[in-house]
Amino acid sequence: MLDEPDRSRTFRDADVVVLPAEAAAAVVQHARFCFPEEACGLLAADPTGRITMVYCLTNLDRSPVRYTLAPAEHYHAWRHAEARGWELVGVFHSHPRAAPVPSARDVAGALEPRWFHLIVGHVDTAPRLAVHRIVDGRVTSLDLRVEG
Ligand SMILES: [Zn+2]
Repeated sequence: MLDEPDRSRTFRDADVVVLPAEAAAAVVQHARFCFPEEACGLLAADPTGRITMVYCLTNLDRSPVRYTLAPAEHYHAWRHAEARGWELVGVFHSHPRAAPVPSARDVAGALEPRWFHLIVGHVDTAPRLAVHRIVDGRVTSLDLRVEG
């Protein structure tokens, strides 16, 4: 029982997010595909905390400086994850020409304190990934480990 993963701790309290290389590549690829607009999507994990799926969603804003997840696609991603015993654990979006640091809009719009916020910055030159937690308007940078 000691080895049983505690799902509630895995992403809420962890200061490291482990991302499979394939998931990182999918996020960067979606960001490139949507360039120069912001890309966005969701990430699911299994009960052990392993990232199992990257959902590339439509950015309803079609904007280079902001994003809104398409609600119907968000719902379908949630249904897809739930059916497999997974949980949505994070949201990602891109900063096409800026650093992967949450904007004031990102902070104000962060409604799910349990999620991590993965940002792909500098899609125009050298894409860089960074992950943050945003709780009550406070941003905490987390360590990101890409594996595999
Ligand atoms: Zn942003």
